[in-house]
Formats: sequence, structure tokens, C-alpha cells
Amino acid sequence: MWPGLAGKTALVTGASSGLGAHFARLLAGKGVKVTLAARRLDRISSICEEIAGAGGLAEPLSLDVADPGSVETALTSRSFDIVVNNAGTTLSAPALEHGTQDIDRILDTNLKGAFHVARVAAEAMVAKGHGGVIVNVASILGTRVAGNVSAYAASKAGLIQLSRALALEWARHGIRVNALCPGYIETELNRAFFASEPGQALIRRVPQRRLGQPSDLDGPLLLLVSDLGHFMTGTEIVADGGHL
Ligand code: NDP
Repeated sequence: MWPGLAGKTALVTGASSGLGAHFARLLAGKGVKVTLAARRLDRISSICEEIAGAGGLAEPLSLDVADPGSVETALTSRSFDIVVNNAGTTLSAPALEHGTQDIDRILDTNLKGAFHVARVAAEAMVAKGHGGVIVNVASILGTRVAGNVSAYAASKAGLIQLSRALALEWARHGIRVNALCPGYIETELNRAFFASEPGQALIRRVPQRRLGQPSDLDGPLLLLVSDLGHFMTGTEIVADGGHL
């Protein structure tokens, strides 16, 4: 059903929890050999064991995307057909309460980190001459305004525009770059917030009136990484249960 996936190799960053762990399991289930990258090696190692137990191929990779040196060390001499730039972090606080370190952490991880990973991975794709697919996990908050997420929203808006810019430059190398923009999906990032009354009130405003689950993103992700999406590059897919 998803042509062009079996036998491919994929890097999924931020694979130690939430969407990244889900995407890694999903791709492994389609016959992709998956490298799970994150800082918490114990967690990605245990997810790799689980994938192997289910008959899939997976390996852990210690990686801090916010550290360009770590990205170079971890990725140089590796090449992937598919890269899912999923690692991300956030802060819910008024802009006046965002400290310098908060702003740096969010931009270094969500925007600059994704850029470093994409650039190093693309260098290998170009060198090998086989092209590839990069999916940058952005957010609806990269295109819409919400309160208390200024640094996060700015990082995701930058990531969407970065995806378009890289797609334009790298199409001639056979590399497609797209952004996936999820709405509110239940993961460790936000579980406590959505259990609270303000979180519940937000969910009631979603047209489908529910919090998304990671599996709600399966179709959009698989479309972008498989051959079914071969004419799509420099674009965004939004999966959010309806426009708030
Ligand atoms: P989680 O908090 O569950 O997962 C975040 C992942 O990012 C973890 O695996 C974490 O691993 C990794 N990570 C964070 N910082 C770094 C770093 N410096 N280097 C490497 N890995 C890092 O969040 P989600 O699964 O919810 O989020 C995944 C992505 O989806 C994020 O980019 C997020 O912005 C985006 N998103 C999420 C939405 C949602 O509603 N859940 C909605 C829209 C977008 P470790 O700590 O082990 O390094």
C-alpha cells in the first residue's frame, strides 16, 4: 500500500518518546530499517529491542540535535533514504517570561537542530547520488497565533519556511523536503496540559472535538515518505482535526 518504503533506511530524531517513537515503530512495520536518535539512549535502546522483537530492524543513536558537534559526529559516515526531523521541545509561558536560555533551547532544538540534521543528512544523500526524503515535524502553531508559545511558534514557522527553502535548493539532487504540521496530539509533551481545564477547553474548540493520537498522523507521514508523495516537495500537510 505504501510503495517505495520496504528496504529503505530512515533516521527518526526525537524517537525516545511520543511522535518520534510512534513514527519509528510505524516505519519499521513497513519494512524500513530505522535509526532511532535521541539523548536518552536507554529509552531508544529499549524501543529498538521492542521493534526487533516484532521482526523489524532498528538501531539506537545517541544524538543531541541542539549540539552541532553531536550532529556531525553521529551522522557523518551514515546515509539515510528518509529523515524525519521530529526532535522538539517547548515552553508554555508569556513572552515576557521567556529567558534567554529558554529561547536558545527552543530555537537550537526545533529550528537550528533540524537544519543541522537536514544539512548533514543531505550531504550524504548528494554524495551517494540516491536522493531522499526529509520530513520536518513542524506544528499548526507555525502558521497560527496562540498565546504563551512565542518561541515555539517562531521555531515552527521558521521550520516550515526552512522546508520550502531546502526543497527548492535540493530538488535537483532528488531530495524532497516537506513539513508535517500536527495539531494537538497526546504525548508526554502536553499530557499534563490537556488533562487540565484550559486543555480540555481547547480540545472542545477543535472541530472534531478530540485530542489527536499519534496514529492520526500515520497517513500524512507515510504519504510524505513513500513514493505516493513523489511529486510533493516544499509543501506542508496539516493534520489537526479541523481549523480552530
Ligand atoms: P515528546 O516530548 O514526547 O518528544 C520529544 C522528543 O524530542 C523526545 O524523544 C526527546 O528525546 C527529543 N528531543 C528533545 N530535545 C532533543 C535534543 N536536543 N536532541 C535530540 N532529541 C531531542 O514530544 P512530542 O512527541 O509531542 O513531539 C514531537 C515533535 O512533534 C516535536 O517537534 C513537537 O514540537 C511536534 N509537535 C507535537 C505536537 C503535539 O501536540 N504533541 C503538535 C505539533 C507538533 P530526548 O529527551 O531523549 O533527547
